[in-house]
Amino acid sequence: MPFTQLGLSAELLRAVSEEGYSKPTPIQQQAIPVVLEGRDILAGAQTGTGKTASFTLPTLQRLMETPINSGRQRVVRALVLTPTRELAAQVHDSVRTYGRHLPLRSAVIFGGVSMVPQFRALRNGVDIVVATPGRLLDHLRQQTLDISQVEVFVLDEADRMLDMGFIRDIRQIMNMLPRARQNLLFSATITEEIKGLSAQLLHNPALVEVARQNQAADTVSQRVYAVEKDRKRELLSHLVGTGNWQQVLVFVRTKHGADRLANQLIRDGIESASLHGDKSQGARTRALADFKSGKVAVLVATDIAARGLDIDQLPHVVNFELPNVPEDYVHRIGRTGRAGANGEALSLVAQDEAKLLGAIEKVLKRDIPRATEPGFEPNFVLRSQPGYKAPHRGDGGHNRPAKANVRHAGNHGDPARRSARGRSSGDQRGNARAGRNS
Ligand code: AMP
Repeated sequence: MPFTQLGLSAELLRAVSEEGYSKPTPIQQQAIPVVLEGRDILAGAQTGTGKTASFTLPTLQRLMETPINSGRQRVVRALVLTPTRELAAQVHDSVRTYGRHLPLRSAVIFGGVSMVPQFRALRNGVDIVVATPGRLLDHLRQQTLDISQVEVFVLDEADRMLDMGFIRDIRQIMNMLPRARQNLLFSATITEEIKGLSAQLLHNPALVEVARQNQAADTVSQRVYAVEKDRKRELLSHLVGTGNWQQVLVFVRTKHGADRLANQLIRDGIESASLHGDKSQGARTRALADFKSGKVAVLVATDIAARGLDIDQLPHVVNFELPNVPEDYVHRIGRTGRAGANGEALSLVAQDEAKLLGAIEKVLKRDIPRATEPGFEPNFVLRSQPGYKAPHRGDGGHNRPAKANVRHAGNHGDPARRSARGRSSGDQRGNARAGRNS
């Protein structure tokens, strides 16, 4: 199906074709017509599926259908909430990209830097706000932002928001929204908890689901290197050097570990940077920009910092340590092989990670092929072991059906009731950029 059949305006189609998209992705095919009808939606789609455009394009169009804003006398008509600053910045970039031929204004609001530029952007009048919950609430409390006339409310990566303990913030924000509005809820997994939230938030929603991208993982080739723990760094440097890898995202478990590894790699002569929640927003933005531009070959990141990162054509992902939550493996390797490009995901696995590996292979429902590098053969045999107990993370929907489909979703499920897992690095106080789409 071509984009032209989705009912989008000429200005939006022009922006889409300027992005080089030839046809809509499955989530876009399913979601765009439903959102254009004005219906609420519960969408199960991971990052990498084209989900951002699937809510941004029709939201922009809906705003254009009744152009009530002009000049500085604007009210906020669309609000997008995201769990992390990076995701907020990326979604805002998409709003600006897809809306570049429309006279709509937007701003992004997130924690970590001064509120002053945000005040200014909001005072100048915006139609669309993309925000993380904490800083948005700061603005609402200070009455520098009014969301009482929002027509379209989007919750992006809702499962992550719940994981990060944002449920109370979300409820507070919901209470300040007008009753009559359109709600779009996007989540990588549709757990019982998400169903509970959707029962409170959505009215007569359409349920749209696409295949969990990495369950298929056809475009990502995965390999496990069994290796002594204290030789992991050496093996990584060797693989980067001999393979002449130019862009590698490396995952570690701790912030300290990220800094240490980045520094060791620099000593090995490899341009590297780290990305984690303890870094200032400026340092995070710089590390990401250097990585995207190719100035830095290796970006060492923690799971939370890398959440939602969208790097075009990222060729290599390395798990320097396996994640504690098996589903995070799927999220991690989802950074590569996106939108049809080929990617490679390698895991360096020490003997004491055998149970973690077992848990990951159970989630994947298959074994990951093993590889060895001459000179780095381990002195143990790596067998993935059963028996790993992962930290709980609102279960129940990890293995959704494979085909995209739209169906009516009743308001089922219990209200969201699980408590916060700690709201670490999601929405530290911070800065914003304002954008003008014209
Ligand atoms: P998302 O799932 O929103 O994070 O999008 C993942 C990536 O897919 C982004 O880099 C988008 O620019 C890209 N993308 C979105 N829609 C399309 C499309 N229809 N065709 C090709 N690439 C797309």
